[in-house]
Amino acid sequence: MNTPALAPGLYIVATPIGNLGDISRRAIEVLAACAVVACEDTRVTGGLLHHLGLKRPLRRYDDHASDAAREGLLGEMMHSPVALVSDAGTPLISDPGYRLVREARARGIAVTTIPGASALVAALTLAGLPTDRFLFAGFLPNKDKARGDVLADLAAVPATLVFYETGPRLVASLEAMAQVLPGREIAVARELTKLHEECRTGTAQELAAHFTAHPPRGEIVLLAGPPGAPEKPAEADIDAELRAALADLPASKAAGLVAKKHGLDRKALYARVMELKG
Ligand code: SAM
Repeated sequence: MNTPALAPGLYIVATPIGNLGDISRRAIEVLAACAVVACEDTRVTGGLLHHLGLKRPLRRYDDHASDAAREGLLGEMMHSPVALVSDAGTPLISDPGYRLVREARARGIAVTTIPGASALVAALTLAGLPTDRFLFAGFLPNKDKARGDVLADLAAVPATLVFYETGPRLVASLEAMAQVLPGREIAVARELTKLHEECRTGTAQELAAHFTAHPPRGEIVLLAGPPGAPEKPAEADIDAELRAALADLPASKAAGLVAKKHGLDRKALYARVMELKG
């Protein structure tokens, strides 16, 4: 491969979350050209490089690494390109790298991202839940009380909630969701990009029953749709609001104000205003 020289600095390289075909051309070029690859597990990353036909020096790194280990990498970035990868997906997303990036930026070291797969985005694209607003909350706590508390904190957030999960804990998390987020649409996205990719949706109770009967294998993203939209106001209430707004505003502004407040169609409300005005 023709590997262009890389400027010194830190390169954040996303790797596949299952299907090795998902590595980007740019990721391969950067891995081929970097002086060192910092990684969570040298066996995992060694396997990926071997698959790509590359051989680079590997350096084990995570955010609990000693200050000396971090200093060593930061020192290297000053004069050569250093890649950071995690075992799978995008570094820093429930994976190491935050402290390294923060420190590199503080020292004026160039930081470049080579984006790619991340399980949270892949799951959002599959689940059929609203994607215009979402909140990624990493892994839920292991203990029942703490898990319930986190869910209660998030219950009113008007966004799709996204969690990373593991097979052995899935049913407990679904049961907690049934308690704390009743009525919400839930999705379980499993083994994304792999042979047994699956995305199952339903209520938390339904999914808890399913996964109790069929204990899930592999890697999991758990999603909860946003809290239900507030009930549509009755027509009589809308008319009353339109009349009140008309006392101070011209017809189009009154219609716009009430439409915005209730998420209703402005043109339809304008037509109603004209009817009310006779
Ligand atoms: N950095 C990774 C990313 O960008 O997605 C996430 C790393 S985190 C330590 C690992 C968790 O990600 C797994 O426990 C699972 O919840 C989720 N995950 C990773 N790969 C997945 C896959 N292929 N299918 C479903 N979930 C996956």
